[in-house]
Amino acid sequence: MRYISTRGEAPPVSFLEAILKGLAPDGGLYVPESWPALRPYLRENRGAMGHAGAAAEALYLFADDDLSFAGAAALANEAYGAESRFAHPAVAPLKQLDGRTWLMELFHGPSLAFKDVAMQLIGALYAEALARSGERLTVVCATSGDTGGAAVEALKGADAVDLFVMLPKGRVSEVQRRFMTASGAANVHPILIDGDFDDCQAILKTLFADKAFAASASLSGVNSISWARIVAQAAYFITASYALGGDGVVNFVVPTGNFGDAFAGYVAKRMGAPVGRILLATNTNDILARAIATGRYERAAHSSATISPAMDIQVASNFERLVFEATGRGADTTRALYAAFAQSGGFDIPAPALAAMREIFSAVAVNDDETRAAMRAVHQRTGDLLCPHSAIAAAAAMKGANGWAPDGPVVLLATAHPAKFPDTVEAATGVTPPLPGHCATLYDRPEKADALSNDAEAVKKYVRERTRAWR
Ligand SMILES: *Cc1c(COP(=O)(O)O)cnc(C)c1O
Repeated sequence: MRYISTRGEAPPVSFLEAILKGLAPDGGLYVPESWPALRPYLRENRGAMGHAGAAAEALYLFADDDLSFAGAAALANEAYGAESRFAHPAVAPLKQLDGRTWLMELFHGPSLAFKDVAMQLIGALYAEALARSGERLTVVCATSGDTGGAAVEALKGADAVDLFVMLPKGRVSEVQRRFMTASGAANVHPILIDGDFDDCQAILKTLFADKAFAASASLSGVNSISWARIVAQAAYFITASYALGGDGVVNFVVPTGNFGDAFAGYVAKRMGAPVGRILLATNTNDILARAIATGRYERAAHSSATISPAMDIQVASNFERLVFEATGRGADTTRALYAAFAQSGGFDIPAPALAAMREIFSAVAVNDDETRAAMRAVHQRTGDLLCPHSAIAAAAAMKGANGWAPDGPVVLLATAHPAKFPDTVEAATGVTPPLPGHCATLYDRPEKADALSNDAEAVKKYVRERTRAWR
């Protein structure tokens, strides 16, 4: 399998090249040249292959240029098997809430967020790729809260990697921050940026756009545009849809920000898993809800701070992949639309593409009051505590949306552990969720971080002075 750019002007690359590069050189995102089909044994097993089995299959199908099936299975086993860092043996357990609704708990990883699912596999993949090439990497990431912690947990202590994490100062929860600042690892460099997540993401893009800098630092990214993340996340859509689908399909409600997790559901569907409709649930940073409702994809002037900070995002990076698919793999159209977006901050989705998107996706925005009400309602009904992001999925399912009349089971994605947002959960439900045992020392460990202004040049200098990959 080779990878091409959504903007059509970059040479095809292999899976490992695509994940090490991150963004394609023409500014597009890498997508597979074609969609591989899941093999029948998965359907016959009805989800019994578990998360490690589904991830091995997805990884093999997408990386067959670089990995044998046994190689893919070994990496998946390292990330998700019995010796893995997940506190639940199922990795992504399903919990029934009522007759037709399930909660998929994606927060049993080392940093208590669904991003661990992808990042644990990326850690194993990087170790494998760097051992083969003998190279060092500088990994830089921008985080709205959870990517950073998951990256730290996956890459701390990695021999050949230096990790720089930019987080928006004062806009992540204390637990989220501590997962980034209290690792104690010498190869981890948290940077508090005086700005919001979109500022951090813009700095990241500037770093990658500086070709000389990117080459000297051997720069690589683990942000949600990384194809490896999409593949790892597709695995739980595959297992859940096979486990619950019977002869029909399973529908998903996905709290969304950068559209990575939701696009993974689309990928599972394209590979033949019985995924029905996907409801995109946003907070008041609602660019995706507006895009699906009106056909106009347009950023607001600023992201607003909500009680679900990991979704305080105005530019849903992975949406470009859906635009590419929905325009019939239209690289020229995608390139033109994103040129308009760079110029004016918006574009109109062509009518046939919008119709194609609406065949699968519905979307709805949820405000903070509705989020708190959903946290209370679920707690009263089932005793479960939801983090504010997961509560947006619950609120969206209650609220409904155009085109959302799901036939069959509905799975709500629970994307973070409630203990990552104890104050918000306490305020809504009256209950303080305790940190699980495997994170019990988080508040006792010293924090280390540097503060920098919202300035890409300052970040470049900081990275240059610290990375061991510089040449
Ligand atoms: C990152 C994140 C999201 C949004 O996921 P995307 O892939 O960016 O859409 C939702 N909830 C939590 C807790 C997150 O950390």
